[in-house]
Amino acid sequence: MDDVLEPGAHEPGDLSAEIRDIIVHDGPISVERYMALALTHPTKGYYTARDPFGAAGDFTTSPEISQMFGEMVGLWAADFWERIGAPAQVRLVELGPGRGALMSDFLRASRVAPGFFAALDVHLVEASPKLAERQSEALAACGRPVSWHRTIDDIPPGPAIFIANEFFDALPVRHFIKTHEGWREKLVGLDDDGQLAFGLGPEVEPFLKAEAEEGAILEINVAAQRVMSQVASRIVEQNGGLLAFDYGYLQTGFGETLQAIRAHQFVDPLAEPGLADLTTHVDFSALSRAAHSVHAEVHGPVTQGDFLLDIGMVERAEALRARASSEQKTQIDAALGRLTDMSETGMGAMFKVLAVTRRGVGGLPGFERAHDGAD
Ligand code: SAH
Repeated sequence: MDDVLEPGAHEPGDLSAEIRDIIVHDGPISVERYMALALTHPTKGYYTARDPFGAAGDFTTSPEISQMFGEMVGLWAADFWERIGAPAQVRLVELGPGRGALMSDFLRASRVAPGFFAALDVHLVEASPKLAERQSEALAACGRPVSWHRTIDDIPPGPAIFIANEFFDALPVRHFIKTHEGWREKLVGLDDDGQLAFGLGPEVEPFLKAEAEEGAILEINVAAQRVMSQVASRIVEQNGGLLAFDYGYLQTGFGETLQAIRAHQFVDPLAEPGLADLTTHVDFSALSRAAHSVHAEVHGPVTQGDFLLDIGMVERAEALRARASSEQKTQIDAALGRLTDMSETGMGAMFKVLAVTRRGVGGLPGFERAHDGAD
Protein backbone atom coordinates (compact mmCIF):
# COMPACT_ATOMS: atom_id res chain seq x y z
CA MET A 1 0.00 0.00 0.00
CA ASP A 2 1.69 3.13 -1.17
CA ASP A 3 -0.40 5.73 0.55
CA VAL A 4 -0.66 4.39 4.09
CA LEU A 5 1.42 6.50 6.43
CA GLU A 6 3.72 4.74 8.83
CA PRO A 7 3.83 6.40 12.27
CA GLY A 8 6.42 9.18 12.19
CA ALA A 9 6.67 9.21 8.39
CA HIS A 10 6.00 12.40 6.39
CA GLU A 11 2.57 13.15 7.77
CA PRO A 12 0.43 15.96 6.48
CA GLY A 13 0.10 17.00 10.14
CA ASP A 14 -2.76 16.56 12.55
CA LEU A 15 -5.74 18.85 13.03
CA SER A 16 -4.90 20.15 16.52
CA ALA A 17 -4.06 23.66 15.30
CA GLU A 18 -7.29 23.94 13.25
CA ILE A 19 -9.41 22.66 16.14
CA ARG A 20 -7.70 24.98 18.65
CA ASP A 21 -8.51 27.93 16.33
CA ILE A 22 -12.16 26.89 16.14
CA ILE A 23 -12.32 26.70 19.95
CA VAL A 24 -10.63 30.09 20.34
CA HIS A 25 -13.26 31.62 18.00
CA ASP A 26 -16.42 29.68 18.90
CA GLY A 27 -15.71 28.37 22.41
CA PRO A 28 -15.54 24.68 23.39
CA ILE A 29 -17.07 22.24 20.88
CA SER A 30 -19.14 19.09 21.41
CA VAL A 31 -17.55 15.64 21.24
CA GLU A 32 -19.79 15.20 18.18
CA ARG A 33 -18.24 18.14 16.33
CA TYR A 34 -14.74 17.09 17.43
CA MET A 35 -15.29 13.56 16.09
CA ALA A 36 -16.78 14.84 12.83
CA LEU A 37 -13.78 17.15 12.29
CA ALA A 38 -11.23 14.46 13.19
CA LEU A 39 -12.79 11.90 10.82
CA THR A 40 -14.11 13.91 7.88
CA HIS A 41 -12.44 17.36 7.87
CA PRO A 42 -12.23 18.14 4.12
CA THR A 43 -8.43 17.98 3.87
CA LYS A 44 -7.00 16.61 7.12
CA GLY A 45 -9.74 14.25 8.36
CA TYR A 46 -8.77 10.68 9.19
CA TYR A 47 -10.83 9.21 6.34
CA THR A 48 -10.42 12.10 3.92
CA ALA A 49 -6.62 12.19 4.10
CA ARG A 50 -5.66 8.51 4.12
CA ASP A 51 -6.44 4.86 3.40
CA PRO A 52 -6.50 3.37 6.89
CA PHE A 53 -7.10 -0.30 6.08
CA GLY A 54 -5.08 -3.48 6.14
CA ALA A 55 -2.16 -4.87 8.09
CA ALA A 56 -0.04 -1.76 7.46
CA GLY A 57 -2.95 0.56 8.34
CA ASP A 58 -4.89 1.03 11.55
CA PHE A 59 -7.49 -1.71 11.40
CA THR A 60 -8.75 -4.66 9.36
CA THR A 61 -12.43 -5.12 8.57
CA SER A 62 -14.40 -8.28 7.72
CA PRO A 63 -14.44 -7.72 3.93
CA GLU A 64 -10.69 -7.05 4.08
CA ILE A 65 -10.17 -10.38 5.89
CA SER A 66 -11.85 -12.52 3.26
CA GLN A 67 -13.73 -12.36 -0.03
CA MET A 68 -16.23 -14.77 1.56
CA PHE A 69 -17.74 -11.93 3.62
CA GLY A 70 -18.90 -9.84 0.64
CA GLU A 71 -19.90 -12.99 -1.26
CA MET A 72 -22.16 -14.15 1.58
CA VAL A 73 -23.74 -10.69 1.81
CA GLY A 74 -24.35 -10.76 -1.97
CA LEU A 75 -26.03 -14.16 -1.84
CA TRP A 76 -28.13 -13.09 1.16
CA ALA A 77 -29.21 -9.97 -0.76
CA ALA A 78 -30.13 -11.96 -3.90
CA ASP A 79 -32.51 -14.04 -1.78
CA PHE A 80 -33.81 -10.91 -0.03
CA TRP A 81 -34.56 -9.26 -3.39
CA GLU A 82 -36.86 -12.19 -4.25
CA ARG A 83 -38.61 -11.77 -0.88
CA ILE A 84 -39.39 -8.11 -1.57
CA GLY A 85 -40.97 -8.87 -4.95
CA ALA A 86 -37.88 -8.94 -7.24
CA PRO A 87 -38.18 -5.30 -8.41
CA ALA A 88 -36.86 -4.87 -11.98
CA GLN A 89 -34.51 -2.14 -10.81
CA VAL A 90 -33.08 -1.87 -7.31
CA ARG A 91 -30.59 0.64 -5.94
CA LEU A 92 -27.80 -1.22 -4.18
CA VAL A 93 -26.47 1.33 -1.71
CA GLU A 94 -23.36 0.80 0.37
CA LEU A 95 -22.75 3.21 3.24
CA GLY A 96 -19.02 3.81 3.83
CA PRO A 97 -17.56 1.26 1.37
CA GLY A 98 -13.89 1.64 2.43
CA ARG A 99 -11.72 0.17 -0.31
CA GLY A 100 -14.67 -1.36 -2.16
CA ALA A 101 -13.83 -4.95 -1.23
CA LEU A 102 -17.29 -5.88 0.04
CA MET A 103 -19.04 -4.47 -3.03
CA SER A 104 -16.64 -6.08 -5.46
CA ASP A 105 -17.08 -9.54 -3.83
CA PHE A 106 -20.85 -8.96 -3.52
CA LEU A 107 -21.23 -8.24 -7.24
CA ARG A 108 -19.06 -11.14 -8.37
CA ALA A 109 -21.09 -13.58 -6.24
CA SER A 110 -24.42 -12.11 -7.40
CA ARG A 111 -23.77 -13.14 -10.98
CA VAL A 112 -25.14 -16.58 -10.01
CA ALA A 113 -28.54 -14.84 -9.76
CA PRO A 114 -28.70 -13.16 -13.20
CA GLY A 115 -32.10 -11.48 -12.63
CA PHE A 116 -30.85 -9.87 -9.43
CA PHE A 117 -27.51 -8.88 -10.96
CA ALA A 118 -29.25 -7.23 -13.93
CA ALA A 119 -31.55 -5.25 -11.61
CA LEU A 120 -28.68 -3.68 -9.65
CA ASP A 121 -27.84 0.00 -9.86
CA VAL A 122 -24.96 0.63 -7.45
CA HIS A 123 -24.72 3.78 -5.29
CA LEU A 124 -21.85 4.35 -2.88
CA VAL A 125 -22.12 6.87 -0.04
CA GLU A 126 -18.60 7.99 0.80
CA ALA A 127 -17.20 11.04 2.60
CA SER A 128 -13.60 10.46 1.49
CA PRO A 129 -12.52 11.36 -2.06
CA LYS A 130 -9.41 9.26 -1.52
CA LEU A 131 -11.41 6.13 -0.65
CA ALA A 132 -13.88 6.87 -3.47
CA GLU A 133 -10.91 6.59 -5.87
CA ARG A 134 -9.99 3.24 -4.38
CA GLN A 135 -13.60 2.08 -4.78
CA SER A 136 -13.66 3.17 -8.39
CA GLU A 137 -10.52 1.10 -9.10
CA ALA A 138 -11.97 -1.92 -7.28
CA LEU A 139 -15.24 -1.70 -9.23
CA ALA A 140 -13.89 -0.71 -12.65
CA ALA A 141 -14.91 -4.04 -14.22
CA CYS A 142 -17.85 -4.91 -11.96
CA GLY A 143 -20.40 -4.98 -14.77
CA ARG A 144 -22.98 -2.66 -13.16
CA PRO A 145 -23.37 1.15 -13.19
CA VAL A 146 -21.84 2.75 -10.09
CA SER A 147 -22.31 6.30 -8.75
CA TRP A 148 -20.93 8.10 -5.70
CA HIS A 149 -22.66 10.39 -3.21
CA ARG A 150 -21.56 12.37 -0.20
CA THR A 151 -24.82 11.72 1.70
CA ILE A 152 -27.84 9.43 1.44
CA ASP A 153 -30.07 12.38 0.45
CA ASP A 154 -28.68 12.25 -3.10
CA ILE A 155 -29.60 8.64 -3.92
CA PRO A 156 -32.28 8.54 -6.63
CA PRO A 157 -35.69 7.19 -5.55
CA GLY A 158 -36.93 3.61 -5.89
CA PRO A 159 -36.54 0.29 -4.11
CA ALA A 160 -33.14 0.15 -2.42
CA ILE A 161 -31.03 -2.40 -0.57
CA PHE A 162 -28.65 -0.70 1.87
CA ILE A 163 -25.49 -2.43 3.10
CA ALA A 164 -23.26 -1.06 5.87
CA ASN A 165 -20.20 -2.61 7.49
CA GLU A 166 -18.45 -0.56 10.19
CA PHE A 167 -20.24 2.59 9.03
CA PHE A 168 -22.44 3.48 12.01
CA ASP A 169 -19.47 3.24 14.40
CA ALA A 170 -17.74 6.06 12.51
CA LEU A 171 -20.62 8.51 12.98
CA PRO A 172 -20.09 11.13 15.69
CA VAL A 173 -21.74 10.87 19.12
CA ARG A 174 -22.58 13.34 21.91
CA HIS A 175 -21.56 12.74 25.51
CA PHE A 176 -23.41 13.97 28.61
CA ILE A 177 -22.28 13.77 32.23
CA LYS A 178 -24.54 13.73 35.30
CA THR A 179 -23.62 16.51 37.73
CA HIS A 180 -25.38 17.45 40.97
CA GLU A 181 -27.55 19.98 39.06
CA GLY A 182 -28.42 17.64 36.16
CA TRP A 183 -26.97 16.45 32.83
CA ARG A 184 -24.35 18.64 31.16
CA GLU A 185 -22.69 18.04 27.80
CA LYS A 186 -19.05 16.95 27.71
CA LEU A 187 -17.12 19.36 25.49
CA VAL A 188 -13.66 19.68 23.99
CA GLY A 189 -11.95 22.94 25.00
CA LEU A 190 -8.45 24.15 25.87
CA ASP A 191 -6.55 23.67 29.12
CA ASP A 192 -4.28 26.28 30.77
CA ASP A 193 -1.46 25.33 28.40
CA GLY A 194 -3.70 25.80 25.36
CA GLN A 195 -3.90 22.04 24.68
CA LEU A 196 -7.12 20.20 23.78
CA ALA A 197 -8.88 18.98 26.92
CA PHE A 198 -12.31 17.65 27.91
CA GLY A 199 -14.58 19.89 29.97
CA LEU A 200 -18.26 20.46 30.73
CA GLY A 201 -20.82 22.68 29.03
CA PRO A 202 -22.05 25.64 31.12
CA GLU A 203 -25.75 24.74 30.95
CA VAL A 204 -27.78 21.86 32.31
CA GLU A 205 -29.58 20.07 29.43
CA PRO A 206 -33.28 20.27 30.25
CA PHE A 207 -34.25 17.58 27.69
CA LEU A 208 -32.27 14.87 29.53
CA LYS A 209 -34.13 13.44 32.49
CA ALA A 210 -32.52 10.00 32.99
CA GLU A 211 -31.94 9.12 36.64
CA ALA A 212 -28.30 8.29 37.31
CA GLU A 213 -25.55 8.70 39.86
CA GLU A 214 -23.35 11.76 39.72
CA GLY A 215 -20.50 11.16 37.25
CA ALA A 216 -22.54 8.81 35.04
CA ILE A 217 -22.02 9.28 31.30
CA LEU A 218 -24.57 9.02 28.51
CA GLU A 219 -23.39 8.49 24.93
CA ILE A 220 -25.98 9.38 22.31
CA ASN A 221 -25.45 8.45 18.66
CA VAL A 222 -27.61 11.23 17.26
CA ALA A 223 -26.09 11.07 13.75
CA ALA A 224 -26.45 7.28 13.52
CA GLN A 225 -30.09 7.46 14.63
CA ARG A 226 -30.75 10.18 12.05
CA VAL A 227 -29.29 8.04 9.23
CA MET A 228 -31.22 5.01 10.45
CA SER A 229 -34.55 6.81 10.54
CA GLN A 230 -33.94 8.29 7.07
CA VAL A 231 -33.02 4.91 5.58
CA ALA A 232 -35.87 3.11 7.38
CA SER A 233 -38.48 5.66 6.21
CA ARG A 234 -37.28 5.28 2.67
CA ILE A 235 -37.55 1.49 2.93
CA VAL A 236 -41.10 1.77 4.32
CA GLU A 237 -42.18 4.20 1.57
CA GLN A 238 -40.32 2.85 -1.46
CA ASN A 239 -39.54 -0.82 -0.66
CA GLY A 240 -36.13 -2.32 0.09
CA GLY A 241 -34.05 -3.20 3.14
CA LEU A 242 -30.92 -2.52 5.16
CA LEU A 243 -28.31 -5.02 6.35
CA ALA A 244 -25.84 -3.53 8.84
CA PHE A 245 -22.83 -5.07 10.60
CA ASP A 246 -21.08 -3.29 13.44
CA TYR A 247 -19.15 -3.66 16.64
CA GLY A 248 -21.70 -2.88 19.31
CA TYR A 249 -23.99 -3.70 22.19
CA LEU A 250 -27.64 -4.64 22.56
CA GLN A 251 -29.00 -2.51 25.41
CA THR A 252 -28.66 1.24 25.94
CA GLY A 253 -26.81 1.90 29.20
CA PHE A 254 -24.53 4.41 30.89
CA GLY A 255 -20.86 4.76 29.97
CA GLU A 256 -18.94 5.96 26.96
CA THR A 257 -17.18 3.88 24.32
CA LEU A 258 -15.22 6.46 22.31
CA GLN A 259 -11.85 5.04 21.35
CA ALA A 260 -8.93 6.10 19.20
CA ILE A 261 -6.83 3.56 17.32
CA ARG A 262 -3.63 4.14 15.45
CA ALA A 263 -1.51 1.38 13.90
CA HIS A 264 -3.61 -1.27 15.74
CA GLN A 265 -2.94 0.41 19.17
CA PHE A 266 -5.25 2.41 21.45
CA VAL A 267 -4.21 6.07 21.74
CA ASP A 268 -5.56 9.21 23.47
CA PRO A 269 -8.58 10.45 21.43
CA LEU A 270 -7.47 14.09 21.84
CA ALA A 271 -3.78 13.52 21.05
CA GLU A 272 -3.63 13.67 17.25
CA PRO A 273 -7.02 14.39 15.68
CA GLY A 274 -7.04 13.25 12.07
CA LEU A 275 -4.21 10.75 12.52
CA ALA A 276 -6.06 8.18 14.65
CA ASP A 277 -9.34 6.42 13.91
CA LEU A 278 -12.12 7.45 16.29
CA THR A 279 -15.00 5.04 16.75
CA THR A 280 -17.67 4.15 19.26
CA HIS A 281 -19.44 0.87 19.91
CA VAL A 282 -22.82 1.02 18.25
CA ASP A 283 -25.92 1.22 20.46
CA PHE A 284 -28.10 -1.24 18.53
CA SER A 285 -31.15 -0.65 20.70
CA ALA A 286 -31.07 3.07 19.80
CA LEU A 287 -30.84 2.13 16.09
CA SER A 288 -33.73 -0.31 16.47
CA ARG A 289 -35.85 2.37 18.17
CA ALA A 290 -35.06 4.82 15.34
CA ALA A 291 -36.27 2.25 12.77
CA HIS A 292 -39.36 1.32 14.81
CA SER A 293 -40.27 4.98 15.19
CA VAL A 294 -40.88 5.22 11.43
CA HIS A 295 -42.86 1.92 11.41
CA ALA A 296 -40.17 -0.25 9.87
CA GLU A 297 -39.57 -3.85 10.95
CA VAL A 298 -36.30 -4.70 12.67
CA HIS A 299 -34.69 -8.14 12.40
CA GLY A 300 -32.05 -8.94 15.00
CA PRO A 301 -29.59 -7.96 16.14
CA VAL A 302 -27.85 -11.32 15.99
CA THR A 303 -24.15 -11.94 16.39
CA GLN A 304 -22.07 -11.93 13.21
CA GLY A 305 -20.96 -15.51 14.01
CA ASP A 306 -24.55 -16.81 14.17
CA PHE A 307 -25.55 -14.85 11.07
CA LEU A 308 -22.69 -16.05 8.87
CA LEU A 309 -22.96 -19.67 9.99
CA ASP A 310 -26.76 -19.70 9.59
CA ILE A 311 -26.57 -18.38 6.03
CA GLY A 312 -24.06 -21.04 5.03
CA MET A 313 -20.54 -19.70 5.37
CA VAL A 314 -19.11 -23.11 6.22
CA GLU A 315 -20.55 -24.50 2.97
CA ARG A 316 -19.16 -21.51 1.05
CA ALA A 317 -15.71 -22.13 2.55
CA GLU A 318 -15.96 -25.82 1.57
CA ALA A 319 -16.80 -24.86 -2.02
CA LEU A 320 -13.78 -22.53 -2.16
CA ARG A 321 -11.51 -25.16 -0.55
CA ALA A 322 -12.41 -27.64 -3.28
CA ARG A 323 -10.46 -25.62 -5.85
CA ALA A 324 -7.80 -24.13 -3.55
CA SER A 325 -4.08 -24.76 -3.06
CA SER A 326 -3.01 -25.97 0.39
CA GLU A 327 -1.83 -22.46 1.26
CA GLN A 328 -5.19 -21.03 0.18
CA LYS A 329 -7.00 -23.71 2.21
CA THR A 330 -5.15 -22.55 5.31
CA GLN A 331 -6.17 -18.94 4.56
CA ILE A 332 -9.81 -19.90 4.00
CA ASP A 333 -9.94 -21.79 7.32
CA ALA A 334 -8.25 -18.92 9.17
CA ALA A 335 -10.67 -16.35 7.70
CA LEU A 336 -13.72 -18.49 8.48
CA GLY A 337 -12.46 -18.96 12.04
CA ARG A 338 -11.79 -15.25 12.53
CA LEU A 339 -15.06 -13.92 11.09
CA THR A 340 -17.17 -16.35 13.13
CA ASP A 341 -15.00 -16.46 16.29
CA MET A 342 -17.54 -16.61 19.14
CA SER A 343 -15.02 -16.22 21.98
CA GLU A 344 -15.67 -13.15 24.14
CA THR A 345 -13.44 -10.80 22.12
CA GLY A 346 -13.84 -12.59 18.77
CA MET A 347 -15.32 -10.86 15.73
CA GLY A 348 -18.16 -13.39 15.57
CA ALA A 349 -19.38 -12.32 19.02
CA MET A 350 -18.43 -8.62 19.14
CA PHE A 351 -20.00 -7.73 15.78
CA LYS A 352 -23.77 -7.67 15.54
CA VAL A 353 -26.00 -7.81 12.47
CA LEU A 354 -29.29 -5.93 12.09
CA ALA A 355 -31.72 -5.87 9.18
CA VAL A 356 -34.52 -3.36 8.56
CA THR A 357 -37.44 -4.02 6.21
CA ARG A 358 -41.02 -3.06 5.59
CA ARG A 359 -43.47 -4.73 7.92
CA GLY A 360 -44.71 -8.16 6.93
CA VAL A 361 -41.66 -9.39 5.00
CA GLY A 362 -41.45 -12.31 7.42
CA GLY A 363 -38.46 -14.07 8.98
CA LEU A 364 -35.17 -13.59 7.17
CA PRO A 365 -32.29 -16.04 6.74
CA GLY A 366 -29.63 -15.46 9.39
CA PHE A 367 -31.98 -13.91 11.93
CA GLU A 368 -33.58 -17.01 13.40
CA ARG A 369 -31.63 -16.56 16.62
CA ALA A 370 -32.54 -12.89 17.03
CA HIS A 371 -32.39 -11.08 20.36
CA ASP A 372 -34.94 -8.37 20.93
CA GLY A 373 -32.97 -5.18 20.45
CA ALA A 374 -36.04 -2.98 20.74
CA ASP A 375 -35.66 -1.68 24.27
N1 SAH B 1 -17.18 -0.73 5.01
C1 SAH B 1 -15.74 -0.67 4.88
C2 SAH B 1 -15.12 0.56 5.55
C3 SAH B 1 -15.45 0.83 6.98
S1 SAH B 1 -14.65 2.29 7.60
C4 SAH B 1 -15.12 -1.96 5.38
O1 SAH B 1 -15.82 -2.69 6.06
O2 SAH B 1 -13.96 -2.22 5.09
C5 SAH B 1 -15.86 3.55 7.45
C6 SAH B 1 -16.18 4.00 6.06
O3 SAH B 1 -17.19 5.01 6.16
C7 SAH B 1 -15.06 4.64 5.26
O4 SAH B 1 -15.25 4.35 3.90
C8 SAH B 1 -15.26 6.12 5.56
O5 SAH B 1 -14.61 6.97 4.65
C9 SAH B 1 -16.77 6.21 5.51
N2 SAH B 1 -17.34 7.31 6.29
C10 SAH B 1 -17.03 7.67 7.56
N3 SAH B 1 -17.83 8.69 7.97
C11 SAH B 1 -18.66 8.96 6.95
C12 SAH B 1 -19.73 9.90 6.76
N4 SAH B 1 -20.06 10.75 7.72
N5 SAH B 1 -20.38 9.89 5.58
C13 SAH B 1 -20.03 9.02 4.58
N6 SAH B 1 -19.04 8.10 4.72
C14 SAH B 1 -18.36 8.08 5.87
